[in-house]
Amino acid sequence: MRKDLCIVGAGPAGLLTASYVKERDIILIEEHRQVGVPKHCAGLVGIETKRKIEQQLSPKLIDNEYNEIEFHIAGVGRYVFHFKQPFVFHVNRPMLEQKLFDKVSSRVEFLNKVRAKPGNSPTEITIEYSVMKCQEVVASDGVLSVFRQRFYKVKPCYLIGFQGLFRTGYVNKDRIIVTYINNNDLIFHWIIPFDNDLVLSGYISRKPLQINITEKLLILNGLQPKSVAEYFGGLIPCNHPLKTPVFAHNLYFFGDAVPLVKPYTGGGLYYIFKLAPDLALALDKKDPEIYEKAYISQSYFKLETERLLTGFFSRTRYWLPVPILEFVEKTGLLGIEDYDRHYKLFFKTLPFTPILPVHLFRMRRALA
Ligand SMILES: Cc1cc2nc3c(=O)[nH]c(=O)nc-3n(C[C@H](O)[C@H](O)[C@H](O)COP(=O)(O)OP(=O)(O)OC[C@H]3O[C@@H](n4cnc5c(N)ncnc54)[C@H](O)[C@@H]3O)c2cc1C
Repeated sequence: MRKDLCIVGAGPAGLLTASYVKERDIILIEEHRQVGVPKHCAGLVGIETKRKIEQQLSPKLIDNEYNEIEFHIAGVGRYVFHFKQPFVFHVNRPMLEQKLFDKVSSRVEFLNKVRAKPGNSPTEITIEYSVMKCQEVVASDGVLSVFRQRFYKVKPCYLIGFQGLFRTGYVNKDRIIVTYINNNDLIFHWIIPFDNDLVLSGYISRKPLQINITEKLLILNGLQPKSVAEYFGGLIPCNHPLKTPVFAHNLYFFGDAVPLVKPYTGGGLYYIFKLAPDLALALDKKDPEIYEKAYISQSYFKLETERLLTGFFSRTRYWLPVPILEFVEKTGLLGIEDYDRHYKLFFKTLPFTPILPVHLFRMRRALA
């Protein structure tokens, strides 16, 4: 018998979709034993996503907030932004997935420890040796999406994100520290305090690095790692977002499978929370256009613009013009919502960037 709606992958994208869909019989397929494992995410979100998590799930999922960010940019300088209100929040990721799962578990048929593969048509799923036919499929199977590889013929592109949770000496628990390095291996590094002496030290790199890099980066920032509680990490997609997120009217792509990740930081939760209601409505009404329109207007062009600008800044090694950002912040033009809307950060700072041509000229001379 043909199944109604099959969702592949029970990460935040698959679970959130299932939580919004009201009028379909859902089969949720997950290759791991339970949701939320293995852990990989740093769990930072901006104010918009934080509000959605609090309203739709539970305020308890937000366990930390920050109102200061310190930027180090190799060869440029060190800048500290202090906002009057918190602008970045930490969400407990394993608990987020568990909470979403609790919300949907009585309504969905959950197949765990099952790896789904695409079948011959977009609505066929191969599970072990049998074929499941579905009316519609949501491919929320993450960075290495086998459905995207099969139907869009796109090879996955990804960066590596790795983190260690350390006990250290005293840290300022209101401040996140971000260091842009951008050499051949390392792209950027972050320190997120969870307490006055507990920090997450993580980095994004182009290739796997030695495990002790997270400690070394802490020491470089003047912190003394005393003990490590755990290491974890995962892959961050760097493919272009799909031009059309629905294949043949019945295979919907969502989350890292698109990918919907912000190119500047690798954060994926913002667009997942933004687009999930429209995706669910499209599935309930069996009208893919609802999702396609929302995807194009709310995310596709913004993500592509951010990709272009991030690529430009990383190639010129200029990154976000932080001195200008500092100036714009003082004028009051910068809002705390802009943490999530990088295209706005770029456009708000670029007009004030007369030093950019000078920087490019110096770069050209240095490379000549
Ligand atoms: C180191 C690191 C730090 C990050 N930090 C942040 C951050 O601070 N803020 C932020 O917003 N985002 C962050 N992200 C990104 C964020 O974690 C992802 O964007 C988000 O998890 C994407 O959700 P998803 O459901 O699309 O994919 P995933 O979370 O990858 O979920 C996909 C699910 O599908 C399952 N699956 C995959 N293939 C199959 C298959 N064939 N059959 C069955 N099941 C399958 C997987 O087991 C998994 O459970 C970070 C990522 C990394 C790696």
